[in-house]
Amino acid sequence: MSKVFYLTPEPAGADAAAGNRASEVVASGQGAYTGTVEGPVLDARRRPLHDLRISVTDRCNFRCTYCMPREVFGADYEFMPHASLLSFEEITRVASVAVQLGVRKIRLTGGEPLLRKDIQKLVAMLAALRAPDGQPIDLTLTTNGTLLARKAQALKDAGLRRVTVSLDALDDTLFERMSDSRVSVSTVLAGIEEAGRVGLAPVKVNMVVRKGLNDQQIVPMATHFRHSGHVLRFIEYMDVGSTNGWNLQEVLTGAAILERIGEHYQLEPVKSQYRGEVAGRYRYVDGAGEIGLITSVSQPFCGDCTRARLSPEGKLFMCLFANMGHDIRELLRNGGTDQQLAHRMAGIWQVRNDNYSEQRGKETTQRQKIEMSYIGG
Ligand code: SF4
Repeated sequence: MSKVFYLTPEPAGADAAAGNRASEVVASGQGAYTGTVEGPVLDARRRPLHDLRISVTDRCNFRCTYCMPREVFGADYEFMPHASLLSFEEITRVASVAVQLGVRKIRLTGGEPLLRKDIQKLVAMLAALRAPDGQPIDLTLTTNGTLLARKAQALKDAGLRRVTVSLDALDDTLFERMSDSRVSVSTVLAGIEEAGRVGLAPVKVNMVVRKGLNDQQIVPMATHFRHSGHVLRFIEYMDVGSTNGWNLQEVLTGAAILERIGEHYQLEPVKSQYRGEVAGRYRYVDGAGEIGLITSVSQPFCGDCTRARLSPEGKLFMCLFANMGHDIRELLRNGGTDQQLAHRMAGIWQVRNDNYSEQRGKETTQRQKIEMSYIGG
């Protein structure tokens, strides 16, 4: 057994940058990281590292206008070569260290993660990870649903717990326009039903609401998913990436969305289940189920943001709106030990100070940011 030291911020009120102290992580050798961590790893705003979102590919079979507009991601766009992507073994190694640093929830994203060949093998490898107390990790995946009907059973068998499916409209013409694809809504709905059937439940359905484009679909979507057992979540349109030409005028706030649904169905708030839960939860008073509101524009939740993001080629990003990541692939591929990896990842997290959504304004909107299609939502 060997020991590695990493930096832990001083208690609240101290100058985190100047006054760090060393604390121990005990690690063993090059394989799966089996050491223990003294207390959670906290960032400069005292937020613990709890969630890891892993993007497994920068490719997608949709060209959603807010995420991957065809003018930018056209036929001649060069996606990452396979050799530059982290292998399943490399991803699992990073995840294993992240679990020792406090991660308890892992979400696979993309691009479209189901496009990555044999993704169920990665799911099985991640499902085998255990927290220091022996508990499994909450393992989920976000997908556009096109391949879900075919793959849901294999994903469930591999150990996936739940899925979140993106669906912005029920109307086929509008859906095709927004996703810039030929995929029909019924294909996505079949994926959602199959996921529910095999037990990847409750299935969450994410609808990005863009005022003047698909806000007329709010009530039809709510009506469709009532009594389904699936949880429909409405997401305020955000200024993700640098290619979607975001405009504040296109944001319909969570409060306005709630009001629209409230004209048809009575709702009441539900208490959140854990720190860092991104969606405000509401239930239908008549027992027809739940909805969620993700209000990152009108009510930012950076104060509780416990998410780190790993890009397909091994960069760690500390915020969805970051403009740069921290390379850890080099360490992975050049003989770095698990202790070194833990040291690097903990060090990156501990100086994290991101709170983009709390600062959002004209100036921030114009900043260069990473694309959501590459890092996941
Ligand atoms: S803006 Fe960044 S820090 Fe704030 S909640 Fe979103 S990802 Fe987290």
